[in-house]
Amino acid sequence: MIKVVTIGEIVVEIMAVAPGNGFREAIALVGPYPSGAPAIFIDQMAKQGQPCAMISCVGNDDFGWLNIERLKQDGVDVSAIRVHEDAVTGSAFVRYRGDGQRDFVFNIKHSANGQIGLTSEARAVIASAGHLHVMGSSLVSAGIIEAVLFALGEVKARGGTVSFDPNIRKEMLEFTGLRAALHKVLAQTDLFMPSGAEVLLFSDAITEETAARDILARGVRAVVLKQGAAGARYVDGTKDLSVPAFSVEEIDPTGAGDAFGATFLAGWLAGLDAETNLRRANGAGALAVGRKGPMEGTSTRAELDAFLARQVQA
Ligand code: ATP
Ligand code: MG
Repeated sequence: MIKVVTIGEIVVEIMAVAPGNGFREAIALVGPYPSGAPAIFIDQMAKQGQPCAMISCVGNDDFGWLNIERLKQDGVDVSAIRVHEDAVTGSAFVRYRGDGQRDFVFNIKHSANGQIGLTSEARAVIASAGHLHVMGSSLVSAGIIEAVLFALGEVKARGGTVSFDPNIRKEMLEFTGLRAALHKVLAQTDLFMPSGAEVLLFSDAITEETAARDILARGVRAVVLKQGAAGARYVDGTKDLSVPAFSVEEIDPTGAGDAFGATFLAGWLAGLDAETNLRRANGAGALAVGRKGPMEGTSTRAELDAFLARQVQA
């Protein structure tokens, strides 16, 4: 089986118990939870039974070990997660507002994540990988951009494949080097998985459909548009199909896109047909939104199969 590698941040997430605005008063918190978009993605990848590894950096502290132990237990190769003696593991404090928006206090850039780079362990993992997954939102330091572009060149040179989830907000594009790096990644991407309108950031086209077609014309093999509670759409040179989401109660949407993406990628690497694969990925997204905690909603193949079987009966 093909080994999948991803590169990016590991953080703990600490959540406000009650909805409200910000953190300018003493409030009840719950956590730490293992988190970070690429970490959630790779956890789901492992739970789907795919060999996989993550390149990252944590501090030699409980927040770091909490993440390493979870990823290892779920089957991720953690050999290229550096434990830095002099840096602290990244963190994100999050509070949901009444309207579903979120307030954050991040410590990512100046945490151990700022030390991610091409260590000998990272090079070894890249040498063993047949597929690279790029999380665009992770490309915020020179070290990560260097590692991602190096991995991109290595994996493609030996006939491997690349998937890409931008996962970005428009304001992030102002970071030096990010936009250029994103375009370099897209130029080498086989499977592109933006969430909804994000696809418009990569094309001059006005509609999601024409943007997807424009990107396919540039050499990307397939585009998957994640559409939240509306489900997902798959477009390639010959097919264009939409599959609705499952109707579930949304407890915590964080991580749904990552669980969806890893599940779709596992199916894509196994040659699953697009419609069946969209349904499976929607199932993984639904399971993720139904659980509180960013990585708590990742699912094994058996858990996902059981969920899908229940939907047929319902
Ligand atoms: P994030 O970056 O916050 O993890 P995303 O924007 O990348 O998320 P979404 O489109 O929000 O991705 O969610 C991914 C998938 O999860 C959707 O395509 C859908 O299958 C599922 N999903 C998300 N929200 C819901 C919901 N409320 N009900 C059912 N399924 C959902
Ligand atoms: Mg996303």
